Amino acid sequence: MPKSNAQRALVVGAGTAGLATAWWLERAGWDVLVVERAPSFRAGGYMIDFFGPGHEVARRMGLLPALEARRAPISSVTSVDARGRSRATISAEAYESVASGVISLLRGDLVSVIRDDVQAPIRYGTTVSEIDDGAVTFSDGSRESFDLVVGADGVHSRVRELVFGPSSQFVRYLGHHTAAFSFQDASLSARIGYRYQMLTVPHRMIGCYVVRDGAMAALMLYRSSSQALPTDPAAALRDRFGDLGWVAPSLLSVVPKDIYYDEVSQVDMPTWHRGKVVLVGDACGAVSLFAGHGASLAMTGACVLAEELSGGFEGAFDRYQARMKPAVEHTQEFGRRFIGWMAPSSRWRISLRDLAFRLSGLPVVRGMIRGSVMPDVDGVLTPA
Ligand SMILES: Cc1cc2nc3c(=O)[nH]c(=O)nc-3n(C[C@H](O)[C@H](O)[C@H](O)COP(=O)(O)OP(=O)(O)OC[C@H]3O[C@@H](n4cnc5c(N)ncnc54)[C@H](O)[C@@H]3O)c2cc1C
Repeated sequence: MPKSNAQRALVVGAGTAGLATAWWLERAGWDVLVVERAPSFRAGGYMIDFFGPGHEVARRMGLLPALEARRAPISSVTSVDARGRSRATISAEAYESVASGVISLLRGDLVSVIRDDVQAPIRYGTTVSEIDDGAVTFSDGSRESFDLVVGADGVHSRVRELVFGPSSQFVRYLGHHTAAFSFQDASLSARIGYRYQMLTVPHRMIGCYVVRDGAMAALMLYRSSSQALPTDPAAALRDRFGDLGWVAPSLLSVVPKDIYYDEVSQVDMPTWHRGKVVLVGDACGAVSLFAGHGASLAMTGACVLAEELSGGFEGAFDRYQARMKPAVEHTQEFGRRFIGWMAPSSRWRISLRDLAFRLSGLPVVRGMIRGSVMPDVDGVLTPA
């Protein structure tokens, strides 16, 4: 329970970064309020590989057993052709030797595990419409004052826009759109199993896998010269993937209304704080799905911010940024290099990627993959 004279913190966004920030701040004695634009908690979403420093932060938070319990038992990643025949496979064992300690789970599962350990009230269906340093006007017209305002509202952050100006100056479009959704299909689930299977043609990738209990998840990725999002995502996906074979027709026939669909972008801004306002997670340092460490860095940023604030405000935001930003920039650079692995631009590049999959059982190749695809984020956390 916060003390009656506790300082007040507003956290905008109840995703990984926001809830992890609330978790750390409330344990440091802050009186925390979380606001979330979505009308209610959103389960599911897309699969993430959770490892690196965020995994260590989760250990320090005591959340690893709950995360492990939600682990999706993916046994391999397989590249298939248009008839569903295997072209190349990387085993879970080979993958884990590259991404040590990795837990594959749904984004919604990671968020719900943190939320279940947070006491702070979460006001769903609420956002911010004005921020004047610590004085905040909410979307329902009410006004409240805070000692600290944390923008944890993701890559399209409203807090960033209100306090730092138009997003266009900070968002780096990586030339692709992506979509993800979960669904139930018993016969497809029996066919695919706990193997992440994907079909790649130049500039387009479609993948699916069983998450657990027959529930499946799909991921689509394609190159688009236009950053603008389509008004009808399902129609855009049919247009882009309708000519592909394999399970594409089945996936396109079950695209739900609440599909996750977005441009693939990074966020790069010179300063992550102004006055009482500070950004955390994708809002200030989105690395994109190509880099695959966003959730891990969001957890880490929350922990580092709370650590730096524990000594008071003086210089805390600068120290937080100085510790996190090099790791974020390094990971972003790695993510841009990884585009060619996830969405190869030609048939021979797809063949080259598949060859690396096939050879991934060899320790020397694992070492090369680790060196070329794993960003270096060591040293961000203080020793436990
Ligand atoms: C397809 C895909 C695959 C990925 N794979 C991986 C992976 O393998 N490993 C990994 O570590 N990361 C991965 N990521 C990245 C990771 O999901 C993000 O970096 C991470 O979720 C960022 O957390 P966040 O809390 O900063 O933002 P978000 O998860 O986007 O959360 C922001 C929250 O703020 C809310 N919000 C938005 N606007 C407002 C507003 N105006 N007011 C109030 N609330 C608002 C949103 O509803 C949301 O709940 C992947 C991302 C994608 C899209």
